[in-house]
Amino acid sequence: MNIVWIITTLLVCLSVSVKCFVLQDSGISTNLDIARIKADVRRQKNVTDQLIQLAVNGSAKGQLYNRLADFVDRYGSRISGSQNLENSIEYIKLKMKEDKLENVYGDIVEVPHWERGEESAYMMKPRYKKLTMLGLGTSIATPPGGIHAEVLVVKTFEELERRASDAVGKIIVFNQDWVSYGVSGRYRFYGAARAAAVGGVASLIRSVTPFSINSPHTGSQVYNESIKKIPTACITVEDAEMMWRMSQRGERIEIFLNMSAKNFPKTLSRNVISEIVGSTYPDEVVLISGHIDSWDVGQGAMDDGAGALLGWQVLSMILQLGSRPKRTIRSIMWTAEEFGFYGSRDYFKRHKNDSFVFVSESDMGTFKPKGLTFGGNQDAVEVMKEVMGLLSIINATSLVTSSTDTFDGGEVTPWVRLGVPGAMLETYNEKYFYFHHSEGDTMEVLDSDDLDLCSAVWAVMAYTVANIEDSLPRDFV
Ligand SMILES: [Zn+2]
Repeated sequence: MNIVWIITTLLVCLSVSVKCFVLQDSGISTNLDIARIKADVRRQKNVTDQLIQLAVNGSAKGQLYNRLADFVDRYGSRISGSQNLENSIEYIKLKMKEDKLENVYGDIVEVPHWERGEESAYMMKPRYKKLTMLGLGTSIATPPGGIHAEVLVVKTFEELERRASDAVGKIIVFNQDWVSYGVSGRYRFYGAARAAAVGGVASLIRSVTPFSINSPHTGSQVYNESIKKIPTACITVEDAEMMWRMSQRGERIEIFLNMSAKNFPKTLSRNVISEIVGSTYPDEVVLISGHIDSWDVGQGAMDDGAGALLGWQVLSMILQLGSRPKRTIRSIMWTAEEFGFYGSRDYFKRHKNDSFVFVSESDMGTFKPKGLTFGGNQDAVEVMKEVMGLLSIINATSLVTSSTDTFDGGEVTPWVRLGVPGAMLETYNEKYFYFHHSEGDTMEVLDSDDLDLCSAVWAVMAYTVANIEDSLPRDFV
């Protein structure tokens, strides 16, 4: 031990003194403890092998695909605020009760209610062409009779600022490049607000997708409440690119836009909850989640029917094995995720201080699984590496790690920020945004064998973390 090491350690401890003391108090961060927890993880192999076999070769093979197909074929898309979403929630509750899941109930939440109504867009100049479009969630309607205006096509917000004097009275078309969902998605979120700020009368954004067969991809957007609201929709990559080329050639473009979208008062929906109650520590909870609502196009099979039903499938498989874990595993199908995490944010407010020992969500696709992305401290990472070893038989052992400060876990992020270890399912999801928020999000995107593998990963993760004697090491913030 040298002096530099001691000084460095002291400085680090001083800078995060609260965390250091709490971690010492918790007494779970010694090497001996980690070795013991890892040995305990390895002892779960007998049951986790059975879970994998059940999903891949046993009576649960094909079960998730069939359950999901039955669900989405019956109800189709399930937008927040719709009676159809509520009907689909009743159906899922009934099916999970029939399957003998425990404590099945609907947790009431206030959610947005928006309907797109009739909508259309036509390019009138330099030639007549129908534009394939979808209004963006929370958009207002056009005035009765529609908006017929000249178009300004830009690629970036910066270009819009530079050309602000050209924008007044025009329909702004954003032809932003596809970079990533996070980067390109800003044009969908803020396009209308930015266009309105420079005097635009409506905004149309190029669909946020790396691939297109003339497919519009809708999604949420947010107005700046201090600026006039203008109608906003997405158009296809093909049409956005074509109008960009026309504008580069100096051609005058005009569009006729008609939208009757409407925001209704908030209404009530439900997070759908089900459990297997733990045998030894029933108050300590392992959370597995996805979201049950979708956009009002396609079937919401990929985003996020499969992620939501994974929770049911995991509980169902563990019950089929008759192997009750020590801790409670709680599945939550969040409602109204698509309009901004309404279900999970509300639940977090009410259950912030419950004893969650682990939280997880699947909402980035359920293609062939790679493993998990994981947020937790270094001790928890060491334990999770051992958990991933249990999945070597199906080659899904990848563990991409980050700290609890930086982990992006969708709807479970707030718990991770409090120090609770969290995970997201990681799959070969390169094609996820091909179908995202479009008519293309149907059962055809999904593969039954891949879904079995995803349920095996999710079940092994949840069962192991719930059944080891010590809870996963965590931070206390
Ligand atoms: Zn989603």
